[in-house]
Amino acid sequence: MTDAAARATAGFRSAYGAEPAGRWAAPGRVNLIGEHTDYNDGFVLPFALPLRTVAATAPQQGERWTVRSELSDAPVEFGAAEVDEPGRVTGWVAYVAGVVWALREAGHAVPGARIAIASDVPVGSGLSSSAAIEAAVLAALVDLGGLDLPTERQPRLAQRAENSYVGAPTGIMDQSAVIRCREGHALFLDCRDESVEHIPFDLDAAGLAVLVVDSRAPHRHADGEYAARRTSCERAAERLGVPALRDVAVADLDDALGRLDDETRRRVRHVVTEDQRVLDTVALLRASRVREIGPLLTASHVSMRDDFEITVPEIDTAVEAALAAGALGARMTGGGFGGCVLALVEADRASAVAEVVTQAYAEKGFAAPATVPVLPAPGATRLD
Ligand code: ADP
Ligand code: MG
Repeated sequence: MTDAAARATAGFRSAYGAEPAGRWAAPGRVNLIGEHTDYNDGFVLPFALPLRTVAATAPQQGERWTVRSELSDAPVEFGAAEVDEPGRVTGWVAYVAGVVWALREAGHAVPGARIAIASDVPVGSGLSSSAAIEAAVLAALVDLGGLDLPTERQPRLAQRAENSYVGAPTGIMDQSAVIRCREGHALFLDCRDESVEHIPFDLDAAGLAVLVVDSRAPHRHADGEYAARRTSCERAAERLGVPALRDVAVADLDDALGRLDDETRRRVRHVVTEDQRVLDTVALLRASRVREIGPLLTASHVSMRDDFEITVPEIDTAVEAALAAGALGARMTGGGFGGCVLALVEADRASAVAEVVTQAYAEKGFAAPATVPVLPAPGATRLD
């Protein structure tokens, strides 16, 4: 299969019988460390994947937008009247209409456009194909319309599209990562004030890679469990008299835990120690001690498994197999109850580790996982 850029152009030609004016790409992302810290006003550290979604786009007359994706048969068209009424455009097209809506809401004169989408980001695996489609379309419309919307303001707008138009309650991490990440870097994001810092994460120079394992495990009760964890954290912060769990220092943890019931204690311990692991990871990366982050990744996994209780057998199996095969560290990434695992590996061991994980899945009778070695890639950009 050709890459997404070539397929987007081919899709544009076949849908519209014309050439696109340009192609805009946005990547998927993984979170290196910092899980369930975002809604606790804490820290996350995502990086962009070399897998991307491409929007081949050309302007068209009037306030009309026509979109096709490889994931659907025919192009779908909508106009200003439909866009301005959230809920009228539904399904996958809502991710595109939501971007048009959020731009119009913010007072921008959005140009009419024809768009063809192709993507190498797996859909619904927790690698943020949703933010990728939003960011690729947003970049195209901003460029074609000459809109005054600098990159640092784009994540909020894309998030608004997903939250208020599509109706998916996500934080700011996904859109920040796919729009703002840089090649060879991870994005250190403070979810309280939304400030970002680009942290060198040059795996290539260190002879390392991150192996991403898509567990393909069915998401079991993910929405309900996510809501339960969130509520538990919010109640704990209230009980401890702090604005958010971010405000509990590791040094005060023992004291804080003594005031909570057993389950809440474990939830709080995960969040507070996870924030610290993000800070420790950032410190090591700043000092170019990339290999040494391995144990922090694994500690993060153990915390998610035992304290936050958000892993499933497929995920734990992938982590254990990767570590047994020599990974320097491994953890689940994403909200949990399925999704992906990442393992820090010597670059020349990536396929051997992948094989061991695949073998472990076969032995347990799990559906085969998908594996891909990655290096930190750039954020959303115009291709040509
Ligand atoms: P994730 O972001 O983890 O991949 P989400 O459920 O948040 O999963 O987003 C997936 C949804 O985003 C899809 O169901 C679809 O509606 C939309 N989407 C993502 N990529 C594409 C694409 N290439 N073409 C059409 N729709 C897409
Ligand atoms: Mg998503």
